[in-house]
Amino acid sequence: MSAGPGSAASPAPPAAWWRALPNGQAACDLCPIGCRLREGQTGPCGTRANRHGVMAPLHYGRIATAALDPIEKKPLFHFHPGCDILSVAAPGCNLHCAFCQNWNLSQEHDAPTRPATARELVATAIDHGSVGIAFTYSEPLVWFEFVRDTARAARAAGLATVLVTNGYLNPEPLAELLPLIDAANIDLKSMDDRFYRRVCKARLAPVLDSIRRFVAAGVHVELTNLVIPGHNDDEASLEALIDFVAGLGRPVPLHFSAYHPAWRMQAPPTPRATLLRAYEQASRRLDWVYLGNLSGEQGRDSRCPTCATLLVDRSSYRGISTLTPSAACPHCGTPHPFIL
Ligand code: SF4
Repeated sequence: MSAGPGSAASPAPPAAWWRALPNGQAACDLCPIGCRLREGQTGPCGTRANRHGVMAPLHYGRIATAALDPIEKKPLFHFHPGCDILSVAAPGCNLHCAFCQNWNLSQEHDAPTRPATARELVATAIDHGSVGIAFTYSEPLVWFEFVRDTARAARAAGLATVLVTNGYLNPEPLAELLPLIDAANIDLKSMDDRFYRRVCKARLAPVLDSIRRFVAAGVHVELTNLVIPGHNDDEASLEALIDFVAGLGRPVPLHFSAYHPAWRMQAPPTPRATLLRAYEQASRRLDWVYLGNLSGEQGRDSRCPTCATLLVDRSSYRGISTLTPSAACPHCGTPHPFIL
């Protein structure tokens, strides 16, 4: 998909959230990794580099991919079901999950890019009838300046901004971004800090903190857990995850997604029975549980927790809503947490 007329890249503004150090190094305050970059050095996220003592946002005004996706594909099941969303990405990620299902974009930092301005993305979204712009496929939080500026332009044009993210950002930059964000699907990969450290080269606590901040800021949030056999699929791990979701203070849809061997992890794919077990376990305590990367009907549709009426039919992948305009059940009238 073309993202507009393809003008020259926007001039990059100064990077946000960094400090110059006396020895020519640049300290990055964007994410919890807290890099100190020497002259010429690029951060492990692949998106920020020290250029002559100044932090440069490498992919400002450049995109690697753009596509018009059903919003269900993000996955977002409770946010404008049935709508399309312009989905864009630049290379890079601050996590290095061994199982990354999008590693050729997130971990291959020299993936080809082309110029695109915020204005062009907004115009493309409007031309294609998109509900907004989704920053997805790689990690949008480390594409911070371009996501922020495009989200401002999208908001001014009446479009939504969606993040599909690992949630690994420091609280201060997150506070700057959150007022511009309408919805997010955040990966919660495990409730075990050792898993985050060993498999993702990151820590659990900042992710949990970010999720709480997204929720507290009133952003529409859904969570995804990629279920990996032998790593995060035991009953106790899943119960810890369900506990956390149940304690967020408002209903947050939870997606369990099937893993397939990718990049540096060669564990076998998630068995269907494992996903069904996770679904059953979570459904005992949560109203909105879904399954992804799995054929069949289980965990696909939304049903009223009160009377079991079908609320959103996703048999064709694109959601077809029967909810009333105020997002209530058409049968029993119970209000539900959907944004239509
Ligand atoms: S955003 Fe990139 S450069 Fe900044 S601290 Fe995180 S990994 Fe390092």
